[in-house]
Amino acid sequence: MAKDYYQILGINKSASPEDIKKAFRKLAHEHHPDKKGGNEGKFKEINEAYQVLGNPDKRQQYDQFGANFESAGGPGGFNWQDFARAQGAGGFNQGGFRVDFDDLGDIFGLGDIFGGGRSRRAGPSRGADMAFTTAIDFRESVFGTEKILRFEKNVICSKCAGSGAEPGAKITTCATCGGQGRVEQIQRTFMGAMRSVRPCPDCGGEGKRAEKQCSRCKGRGSEPGVKELKVKIPAGIADGQTIELAGEGDLGVKGGSAGSLFLTVRVRPDKVFKRQGHDLLTQKQISFALATLGGRVPLITLDGEVQLKIPASTQSGTVIKLESKGVPHLRGGRRGDLLVTVKVITPAKLSKKEREALKELPTEEGEKIVLVSWL
Ligand SMILES: [Zn+2]
Ligand SMILES: [Zn+2]
Repeated sequence: MAKDYYQILGINKSASPEDIKKAFRKLAHEHHPDKKGGNEGKFKEINEAYQVLGNPDKRQQYDQFGANFESAGGPGGFNWQDFARAQGAGGFNQGGFRVDFDDLGDIFGLGDIFGGGRSRRAGPSRGADMAFTTAIDFRESVFGTEKILRFEKNVICSKCAGSGAEPGAKITTCATCGGQGRVEQIQRTFMGAMRSVRPCPDCGGEGKRAEKQCSRCKGRGSEPGVKELKVKIPAGIADGQTIELAGEGDLGVKGGSAGSLFLTVRVRPDKVFKRQGHDLLTQKQISFALATLGGRVPLITLDGEVQLKIPASTQSGTVIKLESKGVPHLRGGRRGDLLVTVKVITPAKLSKKEREALKELPTEEGEKIVLVSWL
């Protein structure tokens, strides 16, 4: 049986890439051999599991063939440790091999801790996605608004302008790829050996590298900073919807593309209006006299005050529709309707004259109006 990498990381099969990374970081901390009570064997096992599950390509293969693979008699000599060590074909922009080493570097300030002559130098990688939540008013959700987000993220290094090279450093042809910017690799997969070409990990695909890397950013090309971003929130957005802003997440490393920024919008409820799909619901209380005789009454809508027309003989609970006074569709701008539920108020205090007048109104069969003297 192959090792259960999910079990090793203490996660289940539906874990998100974020969960996996979190679990790995936590366990790596716990068992790091340099720490008191650390356990090198366990640490290596955790890393091996992460090499596979932390890489989307490898994880997919593992999920597909994983647990039964060895007993099913795969290609001779296949072993999960090798698989874990092999670089994923798409690893560069899918958070592959290098990410974890950088992660560990962040945690422990270490370079290559697993031996095997691997270099810590890494090629381009996509920046991390970022997620934020913002709250807006109900009215803003209907008509759209703009929000300014201020957050910490990596910005282009101020010393090397993102090149990762120490200003003035001598630029030489990359020895790893001979200036080609690409390297060929053989990857072992379940289907046999596959040849693939990927950007050179040492020069990030540029074919050249500086003899000295930037002292400020250690060659990453970026440094921690603060970003202010104006985000347009479209009219018609509903509570809980998320906007993706591609390229506004963290900066990529060495020319890798930036991550996405995900902004989840919470809409504060309104006292007067409720949303139902693209329609708005509200209530209007009207007098018994208006309901009976019909007429007009002022009504506040999100577009301002209108005169709501009440037909004669309107019953309490009647819904009056005001077209296109609702919520716009996110695409197209067509608006839903405003549905006004009319509540007829039964008069509480009446003069004698009013009571007499009401007495003249027709009654339903079986009804009997008795004017009581103590009223
Ligand atoms: Zn720099
Ligand atoms: Zn190179």
